Amino acid sequence: MLATKEISSVDLVRACKAQIDARNPALNAYLEVFDDAEAQAKEADARRAQGENHPLLGIPLAIKDNILIEGRHASAASKILENYVATYDATAIQKLKKAGVVFMGRTNMDEFAHGSSTENSAFGPTKNPLDESRVPGGSSGGSSAAVAAHMALAALGSDTGGSIREPASFCGIVGFKPTYGAVSRSGLIAMGSSLDQIGPLTKTVADAELIFNTIRGKDVLDSTSFDESLYPKRSMGKKIGVPRHLLKEGIDADVLAQFEASLAALQKKGYEIVDIELPSAGLALAVYYVIMPAEVSTNLARFDGVRYGLSLKGDSLADDYAKTRGEGFGPEARRRIMLGTYVLSAGYYDAYYGKATAAREALSREVVAALKVVDFIVTPTTPSVAPRLGENTSDPLAMYLLDIFTVTANLTGSPALTVPMGTVTKEGVPLPLGIQFTAAHGDEASLFTIGKVMEEALQ
Ligand code: GLN
Repeated sequence: MLATKEISSVDLVRACKAQIDARNPALNAYLEVFDDAEAQAKEADARRAQGENHPLLGIPLAIKDNILIEGRHASAASKILENYVATYDATAIQKLKKAGVVFMGRTNMDEFAHGSSTENSAFGPTKNPLDESRVPGGSSGGSSAAVAAHMALAALGSDTGGSIREPASFCGIVGFKPTYGAVSRSGLIAMGSSLDQIGPLTKTVADAELIFNTIRGKDVLDSTSFDESLYPKRSMGKKIGVPRHLLKEGIDADVLAQFEASLAALQKKGYEIVDIELPSAGLALAVYYVIMPAEVSTNLARFDGVRYGLSLKGDSLADDYAKTRGEGFGPEARRRIMLGTYVLSAGYYDAYYGKATAAREALSREVVAALKVVDFIVTPTTPSVAPRLGENTSDPLAMYLLDIFTVTANLTGSPALTVPMGTVTKEGVPLPLGIQFTAAHGDEASLFTIGKVMEEALQ
């Protein structure tokens, strides 16, 4: 419609702004709405009038608060970075600017992306637009709520253990975690550097594909990034592997029923469903919750009260550190720093970090081997619908269990896509669920293909 001039980017921004005015005060999805959004839209309309035609030109996007946009605040929803202003653009942002995207604002998240509900934000939780008594998921919960409530056409999030896929699933939208290295991490505030990826949260699979193709690519600022040509093209097969041994306990019966119905729908579309075994997958959550805090503890060491953000003075240099970090970091960030420091310390390194690294390696080999036999590994995205606000806040382990199906793709670096698979009704409210597809490294094209089939099958 932009291309045929039925609407302008200014119209789109105004429509999103009207939704923001109506819903954001209750939802708290945006931490900041940029007051120059309409000016950006005017600029985009002018670029289109001059003949530019990138499909994202003039499209309003919401950006998670841990992705840097030059000259704007980026707090990672933490007190320690509350007043931090980014001095450069993340590479993904640079690419979106080139395409002509309009940045609507920055979205709420769990502090430093630690969490599954946004309840770890220093600025209050986001609420689920489909049921405001429930969480939107996390950590990219502000981004998913912004898209689900039509306060942006799409959003960027980051995914370290499921933070794009889990909130997308809880809000009934599409979420995509690219192959590790497909999108540059330059300008993403680091959580677990061997796990983190930036990716899209969108209303359709086609939108996710479009944004991914715009932000992907090798980048000199991220030595783990790679070119499209690194992995061989695959043949878009139709064989789906289901690791049923992982679905035996800890998963709600209505989630399983919906999952089986979705598999049946795929079968009707010509997909073959087979059982697969991933013997080490049962360890994935434990492995993740050793490796991730180890990396978190080293990444958060840079917030020392000297180089970035909050700086509190004590009686000595050590006291400066203790004060700044003690007051700047919330409880979950401190818990992860302590856990990570512990598993990396002399004497425990071999017992915990070393073992977890070995198990990660075994799991990666199993996933690579399975994806030589089948084209996709499929599971539900989450073991339940979105929990109620406050339901898990006093029980970190219950919160961590929500990641049971998502962490494997981060540990192995595989691309993974969640697509809505219908709803289950709780207390009269239909709540969405997602189905997760994992493919071989670099095979995002097959994921988008099956994702579109799933969308169609459920229409
Ligand atoms: N929920 C997971 C965690 O708390 C994943 C977070 C993420 O992907 N950033 O670590």
